[in-house]
Amino acid sequence: MSTLTDFAAGIAAGAIRVVDLTHTLDPDFPVIILPPEFGQCARFRMEEISAYDHRGPAWKWHNLTLSEHTGTHFDAPSHWISGRDVPNGSVDEIPVDMFVGPVVVIDCSEGAAKDDDYELTPEVITAWEAEHGQIPADAWVLMRTDWSKRRGEAYLNMTDDGPHSPGPTPAAMRLLVEERNIRGFGTETVGTDAGQGMHYTPPYPAHFILHGAGKYGLQCLANLDQLPATGAVLMAPPLKIKNGTGSPLRVMAMVEDKS
Ligand code: MN
Repeated sequence: MSTLTDFAAGIAAGAIRVVDLTHTLDPDFPVIILPPEFGQCARFRMEEISAYDHRGPAWKWHNLTLSEHTGTHFDAPSHWISGRDVPNGSVDEIPVDMFVGPVVVIDCSEGAAKDDDYELTPEVITAWEAEHGQIPADAWVLMRTDWSKRRGEAYLNMTDDGPHSPGPTPAAMRLLVEERNIRGFGTETVGTDAGQGMHYTPPYPAHFILHGAGKYGLQCLANLDQLPATGAVLMAPPLKIKNGTGSPLRVMAMVEDKS
C-alpha cells in the first residue's frame, strides 16, 4: 500500500472526513464595504444564458459577475502594497504545492461571543500552544470565531464608526509570521483583519504583515467548529487568474478522527 492508496481508501471508507469550509456563492452574501471615497468590491451575480429553451434547447448555463474578493476567498501577496514586489505574488504564480498543507485552528469563539472587537493576541496564541504544542512552520492558522453563523447585517456589523468584527493584533501577526513562519492565516469574517483593523499600527496588520512576507490569507470561511485544533490538512487552490490578487474558491479540510 502506498500513502496515496491509503489516503483514497481512507476517504472512501469515511475514516478521513472531508469538511467543506466554504459559503455558497449567493447574491445576498455580504462583501466588504470600504469608505465611499474608495473603489468597491462587487457582490456575486448570476445571469442565465439559457435554460433548455430557445436560447439553448438542450443546455442550461450562466454568466457570473464577481470580485476576486467575493465570498469565501483567497488573498495573494500582491493584494497588499507590502506584497507588491513579492516573487510569485499573484494567484497564477503561486506554486501549487502551497494549496495543500497542514492546518491548525485557534478557537476564539468564546471571546468573540462576548466582544465583537475580540483580539487574537500573542497571549492567546501562546496559551493555545501550551495546550496543543507549538504551531508548526508552514501551517495554515485559522481563527475560529463562529462569525460564519451570523446572517445579514450582523455579519459586517456596521456602526457609525465602521465595521466591528474580531481579528488579530499586529503583535500576534508578527509572532505567527516572523517566529512561527506560517503559510497563511484564515478567518470566518469578511477580512483577515478585525473590522476596526485600520486603527492598528500598521493599519490592517494581517494584510500588511502576511502579504509583505509572501504569506496567504483566507476569509469568509465556514464550519471551523468541525475541525480539530491540530492534525487536519487544508486544500485551498484559488482560480488561476493572470495577475490575480485573490480568488473565490472551494476550501476543504481533511480530518482523521481519532478512534
Ligand atoms: Mn480579500
